[in-house]
Amino acid sequence: MESTLAAQSGGPAPSPGFATAQIHAGHVPDSDHGARIAPVYLSNGFVFADFDEARARFDGDDDGFTYTRMGNPTNAAVERKLAALEGGVEAVVVASGQAAVTTAVLAVLKAGDHLVSARSIYEGTRGLFRDNLARLGIEVDFVDDADDPDAWRGLVRPTTRAFFGESIPNPRNDLLDIPAVAAVAHEAGVPLIVDNTLATPYLLRPIEHGADIVVHSTSKFLSGHGSSVGGVVIDSGRFDWTANRRRFSHLTDADAALGGDTWVGRYGSRALAQYARTAVAARLGPTLAPFNAFLLQQGIETLSLRVERHSANARAIAEWLERHPQVESVDYSGLASNPSHALAQRLLPRGQGSVFAFTLRGGHAAARAFVDAVGLFSRMTHLGDVRSLVLHPASTSHQQQSAEELRRAGIGQGTLRLSVGIEDLPDLLDDLEQALAAAREAAVDPDEDSGFAATAHTHLLRHAAVS
Ligand SMILES: *Cc1c(COP(=O)(O)O)cnc(C)c1O
Repeated sequence: MESTLAAQSGGPAPSPGFATAQIHAGHVPDSDHGARIAPVYLSNGFVFADFDEARARFDGDDDGFTYTRMGNPTNAAVERKLAALEGGVEAVVVASGQAAVTTAVLAVLKAGDHLVSARSIYEGTRGLFRDNLARLGIEVDFVDDADDPDAWRGLVRPTTRAFFGESIPNPRNDLLDIPAVAAVAHEAGVPLIVDNTLATPYLLRPIEHGADIVVHSTSKFLSGHGSSVGGVVIDSGRFDWTANRRRFSHLTDADAALGGDTWVGRYGSRALAQYARTAVAARLGPTLAPFNAFLLQQGIETLSLRVERHSANARAIAEWLERHPQVESVDYSGLASNPSHALAQRLLPRGQGSVFAFTLRGGHAAARAFVDAVGLFSRMTHLGDVRSLVLHPASTSHQQQSAEELRRAGIGQGTLRLSVGIEDLPDLLDDLEQALAAAREAAVDPDEDSGFAATAHTHLLRHAAVS
């Protein structure tokens, strides 16, 4: 009898290692044909055996499938795997990372509620919070110094209902101190939602550090192949929604949709996930296509190997760039020079990920020449792909930001974001080296320090030592 790990029963996991779990967790062998890989169930609906089974599936007495927007066997297999890898009680897959953040937030907050978020977050999420949530009547305050628990505490209002942050914000790697921020959230009686996209559960499991809800863009490292967009919301099952009954009344008051039951009464520790699945995601409609769930599943099976290599390559490149005379600064938490380095040693001992920024001397002109010169690196706005990518945030992802916002985000005209892939390190260094040579040739911004030319020779010697 093959172990399918805790996922089928919902019971305690026999705690296999991560690499074992990423392959086997959640897998239920196909009983019809013995297919080793979870099949792709491209079926919108599922047949009911008889009248009574149809009724039972609708009133929740039978947990079989009804319609793919509510759940699908292929999606369920990857949900069980993701819940096991993050140490949660249930996962809900949706069509994108943006849909995951939206679903998580709308499963907790309503009009009139208040959200406290780190300021250093993904631009799409920042826009969602600032514009869309505002239009829905949910107010958001952004914490500038997310490192400081008092800064979070200071923004709490009587209507605050959740905290939000990212484990590894890009491009600056100003890590979220999850244990400290979770403690303040719990003191305020609200859940902490963590976007763990850039860390992945291989490097960091936010629930183990106190987070209550974890979200991902599965489009990135979890898939790795860059061939399908997706997202997931994972419920830790630990937050006590009943501790203050008036606060999360949608989960603790009788709901006609449950025949007068409450979500907590019916689903216990899985109340939030069930509400997110059936009352939010299934109604707003961002269903993950089962084929994309299948592709995600294929990606996750090699997650640990990829992330190890991503992190090792990124670390070597960050160290190399930091020593390079054309480089003004490198924002990588794996470097001793980074303000988050001590936190990285505590929270990310296995590796610090592979998405980070560095700033070239020579400003805009140097950055432009660099971007136009890369060959192996793709000019692309994506990350966590097996391929290495480069982006100039000031003219792309962050182009809507004011000069003041850019300054606050640590993004200058010479700043470039890398997502380091899993190619051979010497090939990546060669490409960076020739792109830096092109940047050196480019017209230099008169306002910038141009003292690097004289040190080019020393740099080449250093390069020889690294690669
Ligand atoms: C990409 C990304 C998102 C959005 O995910 P999509 O799958 O592109 O919708 C959200 N958060 C982070 C940290 C991301 O990197």
